[in-house]
Amino acid sequence: MRTYYIAGNWKMNMTASEARDFAQKLVKKLDGSDVKIMVAPPFTALESVSSIVRGTSIVLGAQNMCHKESGAHTGEVSADMLLDLDVSTVILGHSERRAIYKETDSHINEKVRLALAKGLEVIFCVGETLEERESGKVEDVVLTQVREGLASVEASQLSSLVIAYEPVWAIGTGKTATPEDANAVHKLIRDEMRRSFGDEAADAMIIQYGGSVKPDNAAELMSQSDIDGALVGGASLDVDSFAAIAQFNA
Ligand code: PEP
Repeated sequence: MRTYYIAGNWKMNMTASEARDFAQKLVKKLDGSDVKIMVAPPFTALESVSSIVRGTSIVLGAQNMCHKESGAHTGEVSADMLLDLDVSTVILGHSERRAIYKETDSHINEKVRLALAKGLEVIFCVGETLEERESGKVEDVVLTQVREGLASVEASQLSSLVIAYEPVWAIGTGKTATPEDANAVHKLIRDEMRRSFGDEAADAMIIQYGGSVKPDNAAELMSQSDIDGALVGGASLDVDSFAAIAQFNA
């Protein structure tokens, strides 16, 4: 049995004090939920949110990290810096990092391997653009991202790996993949994990859907056989919306 996993990516929103107030409200609503819940504030709010979620069932995540352990990387944040703030999860390969900051599959792979080696849980994002979908390349694009992004990841590390399928055309646009279309890609990803790591690891793997998940579409998406949770952007910035998504099965 896979446990549903709902994660909120706050992106570049909220100052440290706003994030603290927001996290307090979330804890009141969601501490002790029967689904796993993670929030990923911006780096500058990690410390304040960490102090609020510590000791609760809500897990703290970061939105990115450096591919190197330390040194001359101006503006970057290392895995150890995250761990020191009780961050347990890091989102890697988000489509905004790929598109705006030109992160390649091999660069993302360096980050994934370092994060897993450091004991962080990784939410590894993949997904096709609208152009790629319309030209029939979904399978090719998603499987290439999975293979290259997870190259040299070991079977023993898979329990710390979550994959988020996020069709780029559905992120922040209000357009959602139909539950059936999303599930088909989730199955494709799970089958690829099956080929690489075997049945047990593939069946245990959490595969989240991301792309305009809202309270009114969450339950239908989650009812699909291979959708095990959601990575939520816009709707995670509203306490009631995020709580309603996390309580989709209430
Ligand atoms: C995201 O940024 O990962 C995301 C899914 O955003 P939204 O929910 O706003 O589409």
